Amino acid sequence: MMFMKNKSIWLDDKNRALKRVSKNLECDTLIIGGGITGLSTLYQLRKENVKALLVERNKCGEGVTARSTAKITYLQEKEYMNIRKFGNVAVAKTYLESQILAINKLKKVIEKEKIDCDFVSSTSYLFTNNKDNISKLEEEYNFLKSAGANVEIEKEKKFKYAIKAKDNYMFHPLKYVWGLKKILRDFIYENSKVEKISREDSGYNCYVNGFVIRAKHVVIATHYPYFIFPLLMPFKCHTEISYVGAKKVKEFKNINAINIDEKIISYRYHKENKNNFLIYLTNSMPSPDVKSIKDNFAFLNKNDNFDYNWSNKDIITNDYLPLIGSLDEDSNGVLVAFGYNTWGMTNATIAGIILRDIILNRQNKYIELFKPDRLLNWNKVFRFLPDAYGSIKAILKSNKRNVNNTKVIYTKLDGQNVAIYRDENNKEHIVLNRCPHMKCGLVFNEIEKIWDCLCHGSRYDIDGKCIEGPSNYDITFKDSGVDQ
Ligand SMILES: Cc1cc2nc3c(=O)[nH]c(=O)nc-3n(C[C@H](O)[C@H](O)[C@H](O)COP(=O)(O)OP(=O)(O)OC[C@H]3O[C@@H](n4cnc5c(N)ncnc54)[C@H](O)[C@@H]3O)c2cc1C
Repeated sequence: MMFMKNKSIWLDDKNRALKRVSKNLECDTLIIGGGITGLSTLYQLRKENVKALLVERNKCGEGVTARSTAKITYLQEKEYMNIRKFGNVAVAKTYLESQILAINKLKKVIEKEKIDCDFVSSTSYLFTNNKDNISKLEEEYNFLKSAGANVEIEKEKKFKYAIKAKDNYMFHPLKYVWGLKKILRDFIYENSKVEKISREDSGYNCYVNGFVIRAKHVVIATHYPYFIFPLLMPFKCHTEISYVGAKKVKEFKNINAINIDEKIISYRYHKENKNNFLIYLTNSMPSPDVKSIKDNFAFLNKNDNFDYNWSNKDIITNDYLPLIGSLDEDSNGVLVAFGYNTWGMTNATIAGIILRDIILNRQNKYIELFKPDRLLNWNKVFRFLPDAYGSIKAILKSNKRNVNNTKVIYTKLDGQNVAIYRDENNKEHIVLNRCPHMKCGLVFNEIEKIWDCLCHGSRYDIDGKCIEGPSNYDITFKDSGVDQ
């Protein structure tokens, strides 16, 4: 019997690291971050002979991209309903068009470059099992049809009502990123963290591994942009955590599905060598643990053990449109691409194309749609506060020992607030209980045995090494004290 692994199914495959930055460099565009966004942008720019380089602080693809369920679909939960609510039908139609374009572009890249990434065509379902939501799905069907999507209504046994689209896909997200990495390896540096960016007369200086990279344009593809706090970004988005399990099954099916009900159920199949897996996802829970995730999937009758179990966070924007583009339209010096509302496979692909066109001063009809400096949605600017509450509670716990009788202890050591996790061998793992990003407290994530900052989504391993931003720093107890 296989023991459950507390990590993403995609991370079972291994990949060799590329060179580090070990001298000063110069380029036209520096891309920071080697997830699907960074690699897609590097690919588009290099195809046009732009002198672009990419730096990744760990290894390419091993950030949020490695924890995705990697469906390539335009049936995206309540995306169009939400965009219609906060924008209008025309905006929702243009967004849908961009997703269909992205799917076709992604397919073209995989075929042209012969990237071996378990890419398969797949039928997507958008469904409900709540009779009160059927009318919403009927309305959604009418919208999708009127916008030209190739959808049908399907009364599947498992669903009360479902919309079906046959022209969608699924793949292995890391194998895709690694395919791009192989093609572009001469222009990529790994284990190379950007510590700081400073503006100079003729562009930007980026400080990496003690060296400087000079660039005219800098693309921040770090999932949550930092270094700068422009355009009130924290008020335009918040992070949401989802929980994922993968389980061996007998049969592989070419389908993926997501519902529109309050408790999100999303799943897909995956074939890996001789094994078939069902991968399923559910949304945030107040106290996530393996049992509550399983309970959420009881309707599938797969309520037994997972082979893999992990969690992941993505950025949800207040108006449900990604934030892609330039932060300074005069020089297009700093560009960002994030806020994909959990639909990053398509949106990272379209981001690569949009950022390329901005840098090359070309027209692109989607530049206006995704502009990061669009107005705030005042109804939702404080959406991040409930998330921050968990982290604030963690700070208040700081002086108490053995909170709730769990293995996690919040206390003071050497005058510093620390959080301690005592593992199954009674070994203590001590970290500073402050996220270096904005000083929030940390919450222990039981699924992956990591520390989560609920304010903006930074994550640290059990001993405090930063594994996901926006924080750029570790919280190791002894040699800490480094602040942004
Ligand atoms: C549970 C879950 C399921 C999802 N499922 C789907 C799905 O089915 N379909 C879909 O389309 N989307 C899905 N998504 C969304 C998608 O996975 C993400 O939007 C996408 O992977 C984000 O990619 P990225 O390249 O922007 O970020 P990342 O993959 O996180 O890449 C950012 C990179 O930047 C690097 N970095 C950070 N700081 C620095 C620095 N200072 N210097 C150098 N490098 C740095 C990081 O190490 C990282 O590798 C899902 C999201 C979640 C949370």
